[in-house]
Amino acid sequence: MIHFAKPSLGKEEAEAASRVILSNWVTQGPEVKAFEEEFAAMTSAKYACAVSNCTAALHLAIRAIGTKPGDEIITVSHSFIATANSVRYCGGIPVFVDIEPYTYNINPELIEDAITDLTVGILAVHQMGMPCDLKRILEIADRHNLPVVEDAACAIGSEILWDGKWEKIGRPRGVIACFSLHPRKVITTGDGGMITTNNPDYDQKFRLWRQHSMSVPDAVRHQSDSIIFEEYPELGYNYRMTDIQAAVGREQLKRLPELLEYRREIGRNYFKLLEGELLITLPHQPEWARSNWQSFCVGIADGCDQMEVMQYMLDQGIATRRGVMCAHLEKTYSEDSHWKNLILKESEKAFVQSIILPLSYEMTFADQEKVVKALVTACRLQLS
Ligand SMILES: *Cc1c(COP(=O)(O)O)cnc(C)c1O
Repeated sequence: MIHFAKPSLGKEEAEAASRVILSNWVTQGPEVKAFEEEFAAMTSAKYACAVSNCTAALHLAIRAIGTKPGDEIITVSHSFIATANSVRYCGGIPVFVDIEPYTYNINPELIEDAITDLTVGILAVHQMGMPCDLKRILEIADRHNLPVVEDAACAIGSEILWDGKWEKIGRPRGVIACFSLHPRKVITTGDGGMITTNNPDYDQKFRLWRQHSMSVPDAVRHQSDSIIFEEYPELGYNYRMTDIQAAVGREQLKRLPELLEYRREIGRNYFKLLEGELLITLPHQPEWARSNWQSFCVGIADGCDQMEVMQYMLDQGIATRRGVMCAHLEKTYSEDSHWKNLILKESEKAFVQSIILPLSYEMTFADQEKVVKALVTACRLQLS
């Protein structure tokens, strides 16, 4: 069996978790703080704030930019549903823009037409780890005085060329970037999220809101010689990361360069093996982008049925996934007047005419050859 994806967790992570468990301080504390500092250093962001998952991170980011009920945020439907949902948590309306084929990212050409008097921001996704065209998105955003939040859930370690230098996603170039540490992403803490920003006011808000807006955190009261009573000045949430998760995250961060190298090697091999294959369209990596290949997604020719191709591959012992979902096609959107009858041609095509290939750390070149052979054979059978 060739697995679709697998987290890379080992003895170091297990020992780190064990060390925290035996220390008796298991909730948000010193490990979270250290993990945040290390994450900030990795991305060159001024601040990094750990939270329970990336959905929570996005919620806090969308709230921080001041989104109020009825406000519009421009984003994509072609993403995991959490992207759009985070806007709705604030009462906002996600306004969906179509994607470019094969980068699977928002088409910057279409953004300006979607801006209205109600628009308060842009939520730009680095889909499957491929950086979106931040430069052009920021030019448009600046013209209209709109903040850009980056959904970088999949993009830990991805890079973008900025003024002639490669830099990691998360610096951030928008006002805030949100990352996921779910096992399907490049590094994991079981569940987890991280928010990077250079803005101290945003960072303060995230720290307050993630812990019920408690004015004095429990870790501070715990260490105090005098009695302190806390206050709750604003509506907050329980979006904390635990110290057990953070200790695992710190080990994962050490592994990151090696994991990236491995994923990029597999990515290069897929390109080599699939080059010139007429029934398959490879993902497009612009010259200013370096994906971490969180997912390696290929297009299959018109006339090839996605489910049949995937079933054929599964019968050969190869696990795949269909293309990224479209939120606007799900009932919670399609039955609401805001999104009813919305058609996003490229997003919908990417959803049904692409397949995500296996990419895991135990994978060999021989496995990749097997994947490619099965994929191509399945497509040819469909068309014969
Ligand atoms: C995975 C993912 C999320 C949600 O991340 P969680 O940590 O599972 O909450 C959000 N946006 C995108 C694009 C994702 O791929």
